Amino acid sequence: MRRVYCDANATTPLLPEVMEAMRPYWMEEFGNASSIHLQGQKARKAVDHARESLARFFGCREAEVVFNSGGTEGDNTAIFGLLRAGDHFITTEIEHSAVLRAADRVAERGVEVTFVAPRKDGLIDPEEIRRAIGPETRPGDSRRTLVSVMLANNETGLLQPVEEIGRIAAKAGTFFHIDAVQGAGKVEFDVRRFGCHLCSTSAHKMHGPKGVGAMYVRRGTPLSPLIVGGSHERRQRAGTENVPGIVGLGKAVELAMKSLEDGTIERVARLRDRLEAGILEIPGTKVNGAVTPRAANTTNIHFEHLEGEALVIALDLKGVAVSGGSACHSGSTEPSHVLMAMGLGKHAALASLRFSLLKTATDEDIDHVLRVVPEAVERLRELAPAAVVRG
Ligand code: PLP
Repeated sequence: MRRVYCDANATTPLLPEVMEAMRPYWMEEFGNASSIHLQGQKARKAVDHARESLARFFGCREAEVVFNSGGTEGDNTAIFGLLRAGDHFITTEIEHSAVLRAADRVAERGVEVTFVAPRKDGLIDPEEIRRAIGPETRPGDSRRTLVSVMLANNETGLLQPVEEIGRIAAKAGTFFHIDAVQGAGKVEFDVRRFGCHLCSTSAHKMHGPKGVGAMYVRRGTPLSPLIVGGSHERRQRAGTENVPGIVGLGKAVELAMKSLEDGTIERVARLRDRLEAGILEIPGTKVNGAVTPRAANTTNIHFEHLEGEALVIALDLKGVAVSGGSACHSGSTEPSHVLMAMGLGKHAALASLRFSLLKTATDEDIDHVLRVVPEAVERLRELAPAAVVRG
């Protein structure tokens, strides 16, 4: 049976070039990048090369790139590393749990936390961020304010107005962190243009390996390391470098930059639009949130009179992998906090599916999905218990 993976926002497979780049660093080039002998020098050279790629990707200096274990660590480091009791943290209700749970934690430690709600279309209004910052924050205040907003939402794909928020943050003299885990590799990327101090990314969302990521830390940002020990990463993140992982991340971002230039992302957008239009021909369906500006690969669709979880399972049996909300919550039937924040009711949130395409997706993949989804929806609606139909 043909299998079509439409869950790229959960994770992506390695591209063959990434696998090939990493391969030697598991075996023959196994050195510790801190060792001074030849093996160590080779590992260091590979890490340095990846750092150059990341600096080009972020649009920053090499010294502003910190390798870590991925998006969760980047988000946690920004929040725990910058904020102290009495400071102010401003974020949004639609962030990933790596930000939301860290916000809860700093609130317990005496940080004032403000959660900004999205508009009904899923976008954050920069004016709401300005209002949350308030008049009292001034450059030079000893009380720190950190604003954290994601680049692309993992569930809707919506691109948040980070540039405008960056300008507001700069004017108010606040720190600004972007969780770019979902946006990185999908849109033009430049931390200087975004105006942020900190930016988190993760390799496994861009065809790189799991458990590795990189963070941009603007020079001079007073960030305390989350993990202490050796003097790795300019004392910003201790621990022996994950050399194969870092090499894989470096290769993945090189390929991501190429995809942004060679038309791959436009092709993915066309496939997503065809998929979306095909699904919307099914009665009782609609896209959750605005359709623009959106990451090229994502659509989130509400299916009336249906239980999303049942549809995920039915589609899986027909070879189509999708997700009914954030993958980080799979196994739980809690409605998506993102869709709820956008004003969907519990039933509507639970009756929604996220389709997120790999950049290797093909027209044949979309043909298969469009054969399978209408049939599965029709069958499930016939079987649907009255409670779901009423919902
Ligand atoms: N931030 C966002 C927006 C995400 O989608 C994810 C993963 O789904 C993360 C952070 C966590 O990243 P990682 O899986 O690398 O820890």
